[in-house]
Amino acid sequence: MDPSEARRILDGERERGLELIAAASSLDELERVKVSLLGRRSPWSEVQRSLGAVDPEARRELGRSSNEVKSALEDAIAGRRAELEGSADDRLLEGDRVDVTLPGRRPRQGSLHPLTIVQAQIVDVFTRMGYRVAEGPEIEDEWHNFEALNIPPDHPARTMKDSLYIDVPGLLLRTETSAVQIRTMETEEPPVYVVAPGRVYRREAVDATHGSMFQQVEGLAVDEGISFSDLKGTLEAFARAMFGPDRRVRLHPDYFPFVEPGVQVAVSCFLCDGVGCRVCGNGWIELLGAGMVHPRVLQNCGYDAERFTGFAFGMGVERVAMVRYGVEDLRLFYEGDVRFLEQFGGAA
Ligand SMILES: [Zn+2]
Repeated sequence: MDPSEARRILDGERERGLELIAAASSLDELERVKVSLLGRRSPWSEVQRSLGAVDPEARRELGRSSNEVKSALEDAIAGRRAELEGSADDRLLEGDRVDVTLPGRRPRQGSLHPLTIVQAQIVDVFTRMGYRVAEGPEIEDEWHNFEALNIPPDHPARTMKDSLYIDVPGLLLRTETSAVQIRTMETEEPPVYVVAPGRVYRREAVDATHGSMFQQVEGLAVDEGISFSDLKGTLEAFARAMFGPDRRVRLHPDYFPFVEPGVQVAVSCFLCDGVGCRVCGNGWIELLGAGMVHPRVLQNCGYDAERFTGFAFGMGVERVAMVRYGVEDLRLFYEGDVRFLEQFGGAA
């Protein structure tokens, strides 16, 4: 091959090659272009093969030109390949594209259980009045659960209550948080102002208003000169804090072995203001039991019943929550249905 012919071919191949490479619209097409430009049967390879026949001086010069053409084409191919690979990635990403204008999916946030909320609110009302939180065991002995509370072995309350005993003789699941009253007075000197929130257990059939396990908040105040009007004033303050400033409290005589006198406490309905409605019936909502601590209970704990008097009250947290939220079936609180539970928001 004549050196000038070889040079003409190399120049032409560079020009033609760069055009073909730029026009390649896919990686497959680019590969075909590469073979046609630099493959064994390409004009460029033909020039390479002819170099051996030209004289050494022209060979050196042609060899350099040939190498320049080759690397120019290879650079252009690499550049175009990168472009085509990039747009292939773009097409893949297109399918996964995130539309930032769509509404987001919020992670579901947990919330406090409605009974936890109500219990915290009840306890809060009393701690703001100066009461302290006291606790006791859920497995109790008969002394703290019955005898010390003026419920002797032959007392009808023991059969009335249908307690849940455990395998160890004399121990049972506590039937009232009242047992915490006894434990507190046994270990502390008066004055005593405590509230005791906690679970209690009864052998009861479960229905819309009864459970075999439920939660109570017990209150106890023992001091010198505590009277029945202190009890009433305290309960009125509680009712207003929980159900609104216009609430009135009504006391009816009732019997509990550990208080004398004992009362059933009702609050004027916060929906109808005592007129009568679907929730309350007659305008009053029965909320809790209370009374003046029986002198024998004080003596059982080593207190001087001549010098100290006190009152106690106990309420079911479920009952307060049902009234407060208009829930008609207690079992809803224990079914764990998130659709029910998340309505309460979780603000304590
Ligand atoms: Zn009402």
